[in-house]
Amino acid sequence: MEEQTRSNFIKDFINIDIKENKNGGKIVTRFPPEPNGYLHIGHAKSIALNFGLAKEFNGVCHLRMDDTNPSKEDVEYIESIQEDIKWLGFDWGTNFFFASDYFETLYGYAIELIKAGKAYVCDLSPEEMRLYRGTLVEAGKESPYRNRTVEENLDLFQKMKNGEFPNGTRVLRAKIDMSSPNLNLRDPIIYRIQHTHHHRTGDSWCIYPMYDFAHPLSDAIEKITHSICTLEFEDHRPLYDWFVNNIETPGDPRQIEFARLNLNYTVMSKRKLLELVQKKYVVGWDDPRMPTISGLRRRGYTPEAIRNFCDAIGVAKSNSTVDVALLEHFVREDLNTKAPRVMAVLNPIKVVIDNYPENQVEYFEGEYHPDFPEIGSREVAFSKEIFIEREDFEENPPKKYFRLAPGQEVRLKYAYYITCTHVVKNDTGEIIEVHCSYDPESKGAKTADGRKVKGTIHWVSASHSKNVEVRLYEHLFTCPNPGEERDYKDDLNPTSLTTISAKIEENLANSTHFQFLRNGYFCIDSKDSTSEKPIFNRVVSLKSSYKPE
Ligand code: ATP
Ligand code: MG
Repeated sequence: MEEQTRSNFIKDFINIDIKENKNGGKIVTRFPPEPNGYLHIGHAKSIALNFGLAKEFNGVCHLRMDDTNPSKEDVEYIESIQEDIKWLGFDWGTNFFFASDYFETLYGYAIELIKAGKAYVCDLSPEEMRLYRGTLVEAGKESPYRNRTVEENLDLFQKMKNGEFPNGTRVLRAKIDMSSPNLNLRDPIIYRIQHTHHHRTGDSWCIYPMYDFAHPLSDAIEKITHSICTLEFEDHRPLYDWFVNNIETPGDPRQIEFARLNLNYTVMSKRKLLELVQKKYVVGWDDPRMPTISGLRRRGYTPEAIRNFCDAIGVAKSNSTVDVALLEHFVREDLNTKAPRVMAVLNPIKVVIDNYPENQVEYFEGEYHPDFPEIGSREVAFSKEIFIEREDFEENPPKKYFRLAPGQEVRLKYAYYITCTHVVKNDTGEIIEVHCSYDPESKGAKTADGRKVKGTIHWVSASHSKNVEVRLYEHLFTCPNPGEERDYKDDLNPTSLTTISAKIEENLANSTHFQFLRNGYFCIDSKDSTSEKPIFNRVVSLKSSYKPE
């Protein structure tokens, strides 16, 4: 795998820490997803960053499920997350953890805070708590329960744990500062009562730690040296530091924030992605139009392309939106060197070659890739009746139209030169057959007299081709920033998927990905395709629409 070599501010921090021999010069990073959805391309950036740094600095990267909110989490997500990270080409080795494995330790930390007079059980209702919290310009008010004794707090917290109170009646709060300008420090909730079954701990807990408590302390328990997270957690850093400084923990992570990846023409919030799945706007988390890793994989994007993209966008300190065309550029660049090139006709019209012998079949060798002979070649069957793209014939061609037209000659890739003699139309005037004559001297698509023919088109033999379903995709949303002006679902693109029936050459290379000559990159749909009914997804078109700024 290519090394991450470009410098950035995170590496600068790490280099300083190594120089100062902090943590004995060791680097431990982590990727901490909440298993409440499938991973998306934004996560890929964080994965590439964390695993990439560990690799570059000879450290390790942990995979930790931040599974502290059982009502939204599911084993299906845990499994998909692992599959997606492996597919991207990263490896956590034996360092696979769950925040839920620390529930006992975290509970102990809460007791430690209570005993030190730094946490209390609060009975305010959520509504009251909101009022007491104050605003950005107004200090908060102290809870009337703030000065409970240590004994009373220990007793109530024990009862919370024992399941003696209903959901939402009491919480445990850190006692920090109700007048802090940072709202996160205004006595944040650290435990809530939730009588919910947890996918790993079962029914043993009915109190669960809040993310802001569990997350930094899980990092500290795992002795993570550099906790890399997205910018919105910058304001949480003082709270995270407060927890780590006020509790005896094994490690002392340093948090570094970077800008999250945003892409145009898509959404990346897990809440929205979940809604698209649940309300069936897409066929599932792995719908090829989704920005999820599983969707991109099914669409035909490659791990190399995604890693190269992540590397190219780098890390920044301010949020911005990346053009999805840049991601497509890296997909095209990767497939360009790998995918066998074959012929498929997406919008077929029949061509009859009148002077070609009935029942004759000739085979032409077609290389799979002009630059990589090692990819091999195949025999392409040619016969009297072939299909070409409807767009490659014009009855009344404009100037400089070099493809097939009455009286005009064109080169059939690998095979012969043909000239259109006439067309056959149906009752409604639609052309149903194009008739041509071929030049037997042009065998192998070369002429003996060396005359110039400008156009080369692809084709398939009518009786040596298969019907296949092809799924053409556009962006899932019609505008660059879905939801900017109305509900994001109103910006869904009604033509994001078009299904067509195409003709493809008979003997396909043993590959999942192909370039269909002149039509783009395609891959076999990993879920719906069968040998009886092959289905191809268009991965990307051949031409880039990417315009660097
Ligand atoms: P939610 O939308 O539920 O807040 P999330 O997108 O933050 O979820 P997590 O499972 O908490 O999802 O994310 C795991 C890690 O991936 C976090 O460290 C988070 O910072 C990082 N991450 C999430 N989205 C992006 C993004 N768009 N760009 C870069 N990193 C991201
Ligand atoms: Mg999150």
